[in-house]
Amino acid sequence: MSTTNVRVRFAPSPTGPLHIGGVRTALYNYLFARQHGGQLIFRIEDTDSTRFVPGAEEYILESFRWLGIRFDEGVGFGGEHGPYRQSERREIYKEYVSRLLASGKAYIAFDTPEELEAKRGQVENFQYDAGTRLQMRNSLTLAKEEVDRLIAEGHQYVVRFLIEPGEDVVVDDMIRGKVTINSSILDDKVLYKSADELPTYHLANIVDDHLMEVTHVIRGEEWLPSAPLHVLLYRAFGWADTMPRFAHLPLLLKPVGNGKLSKRDGDKLGFPVFPLEWHDPKSGEVSSGYREKGYLPQAVVNFLALLGWNPGNDQEMMSLDEMVKLFDLEKCSKNGAKFDYVKAAWFNHQYLLQQPDEAWVPRFDALLQQQGIHSTPEKEADVVRMMKQKVVEYTDGQGNKKKRNISFVSDLWPLTKFFFVAPAGFDREDKFIRKNWTETSGAEMKALAEVLQTVGDFSAEGQKQVVDAWVEQQGIRPWNAWRICLVGAGQGPDMYELSAHLGKEETIRRMQFAIETLG
Ligand code: GLU
Repeated sequence: MSTTNVRVRFAPSPTGPLHIGGVRTALYNYLFARQHGGQLIFRIEDTDSTRFVPGAEEYILESFRWLGIRFDEGVGFGGEHGPYRQSERREIYKEYVSRLLASGKAYIAFDTPEELEAKRGQVENFQYDAGTRLQMRNSLTLAKEEVDRLIAEGHQYVVRFLIEPGEDVVVDDMIRGKVTINSSILDDKVLYKSADELPTYHLANIVDDHLMEVTHVIRGEEWLPSAPLHVLLYRAFGWADTMPRFAHLPLLLKPVGNGKLSKRDGDKLGFPVFPLEWHDPKSGEVSSGYREKGYLPQAVVNFLALLGWNPGNDQEMMSLDEMVKLFDLEKCSKNGAKFDYVKAAWFNHQYLLQQPDEAWVPRFDALLQQQGIHSTPEKEADVVRMMKQKVVEYTDGQGNKKKRNISFVSDLWPLTKFFFVAPAGFDREDKFIRKNWTETSGAEMKALAEVLQTVGDFSAEGQKQVVDAWVEQQGIRPWNAWRICLVGAGQGPDMYELSAHLGKEETIRRMQFAIETLG
């Protein structure tokens, strides 16, 4: 394929928050555009005013800013093919509707919603098409003077596409191959409504793809049923030669069970289906987002890229630049991709570990503040260093207790509580304490505290030099009792690391408290 002049677009309708499947569609368009040195256009398809939701457009743009997916042209980016918001292109669409009417490829229909309803009552499986259009009130059945009179009197009408029956329409899809549909099953789709002077999705979509010189239409599988109609529209306009190539991406499927991924699955199993948190302006309902949940954008992008495509080897971790090199639209799967949210957490774990410890701090600090704890960035980064490789327990969607690596900064709490809050007491029933605090522990801890008091360099290394020698000479194993003193339980990092972090004073204070309390 030629690598010049590739132009693709992501064309969401601002009807609410962007679904994670839409993010994947945009990502694949981005990868395809970049690897061909082409352009990616951001177009807003807002011709259905009844479904418009305020804030949705800004939400979508903010999502891509967060994810690092850049557009070359479009709403918010400028460009020479604008305006890129369909509601600002009314006059353009009117002109193209007139062209179809003039060439007899479309017609005007006056049927009211009540008339259509009545017809549906009379005719089983009624469809407005070659078989029925001559029984309806439209410019094919009414005299020209009558049509002009109705329009002049202000009667509302729609413009319908005249579909010739009995023709095999072939959609040549880059992922699915040739998909053939007979035109007889299609209805005469509404292309324009006089009521709001706006075209429907189908007309606006085709006119814009043509005028914006789009070369490839990469979109979700849910649009495949519209594709034959789109092919016929390109032909009706005489644009068959420059028709974009189609690629319909596989569906995102539920993690468990069958069917399309829905918000309900996310709510039930505890993962977001939107990139950012969304506050519904009407209901006030708040839906969780990947960003607020603590995902890194690189992890989300990497995870999504592999839902429907893979580089053909075992490589999983890929930067955006690497994906641009490796991506192959024609190797995308036809079959739906199961949404593996556990894998998403795994990716986040990987990307978190790639970050310097300091990068965890702002989030970790906010978490601590919520607990009323005020610490310093240095101390917090030090705790991250000691604890980031630990494993946490979590409850999966089915209520089973499972373990996984720390995958979010929020996993650090309560795992790290003891760094900031000294044990206030000890649970004598705790298995670890029962087993490890013996009759000699009190005396041993007292002796150890005295040794620690003499240590000049209280770094982990400095303590080790003094204490290891003392332990050897005494022939004791003070580690677990010491852990009880400093942590209050059988968890935490290396003891020298911990005591170095706490400092001499706090370490000895905790030891004295344990000796007094446990005896
Ligand atoms: N406005 C459609 C959407 O919301 C665009 C579909 C297409 O890409 O043709 O996804």
